[in-house]
Amino acid sequence: MQTRTIDGNAIARELRAALSRRAATLAARGVRPGLAVIRVGDHPASSVYVRNKIAACSDAGIHSQDIHLPDTADETTLLGRIRIFNEDSGIHGILVQLPLPRGFAVERVQEAISPLKDVDGFHPMNIGLLATGHPRFVPCTPLGIMKLLEHEGVNPEGLHAVVVGRSNIVGRPIAMLLLQKGATVTICNSKTPDLGSMTRQAEILVVAAGKPKLIAASMVKRGAVVIDVGINRLADGKLAGDVDFQSVLGTASRVTPVPGGVGPMTIAMLLENTIASAERALAAGRSA
Ligand code: NAP
Repeated sequence: MQTRTIDGNAIARELRAALSRRAATLAARGVRPGLAVIRVGDHPASSVYVRNKIAACSDAGIHSQDIHLPDTADETTLLGRIRIFNEDSGIHGILVQLPLPRGFAVERVQEAISPLKDVDGFHPMNIGLLATGHPRFVPCTPLGIMKLLEHEGVNPEGLHAVVVGRSNIVGRPIAMLLLQKGATVTICNSKTPDLGSMTRQAEILVVAAGKPKLIAASMVKRGAVVIDVGINRLADGKLAGDVDFQSVLGTASRVTPVPGGVGPMTIAMLLENTIASAERALAAGRSA
């Protein structure tokens, strides 16, 4: 079987061009979409992620505010900044970059963000809306995976989807989105006995375990669409996914590479969520 590599970079580029057009339409109506990114401390990877997000915003015509609080900042200071942005009608999305330094209650911080500006989709109200089939903000990585499937013409309805991983960021929300589209969904975790017996049933296989090369061809059904979410740094410094990419060539019908698959979609979906939020605010008369 010929396996098609899903080019996440190309798809994200296309979507970002369309998002720039939506931002321009908003600007013509007097609304510049705004994103506030708050970072606490000096986690090395976080500064790179934040820089990339700010650059992507600027490309798309989104105005951003980058707030960097020192390691010594406490939770009260962070909650105070969030409150200011909650009230700011020129800001349509608020993102607190994780991880936070020790001592911060992540759930309390996520709940402090207005559910109407929660572009990461981590607020319990938005998780509840997703779980009940009425999504408002959907976490960026799962939303990006759904866009990849849509772009590839893969309709989950009636298919068996297996998700490896049950995190709140990827596993659980992608399972809910696939279920909503009519897939039969199995969710696996680290306690699942005989993982291969589950993954071999998948017509859509989404792997988000953070374990390099967890999935080999022997664990993949012939013709499956394989979405590899994992990003793992190997001892030689190279990046690898959770799927043994080379081994599944010839077995899967489609597969996402790492890097260049799901990753670029995640950032595109942050832009999508921010612009959609600005559009909703304009429609509701809430925007500056
Ligand atoms: P996480 O919070 O560590 O969750 C990993 C999940 O995988 C857990 O539910 C865990 O099960 C499960 N798991 C681990 N080993 C397993 C095994 N051998 N068999 C079955 N399940 C297993 O990680 P995450 O935040 O979801 O991220 C997962 C991966 O995706 C990471 O590599 C991360 O870097 C990457 N990621 C990429 C993007 C992107 O934009 N491409 C975005 C987010 C995350 P238990 O719950 O039982 O422990």
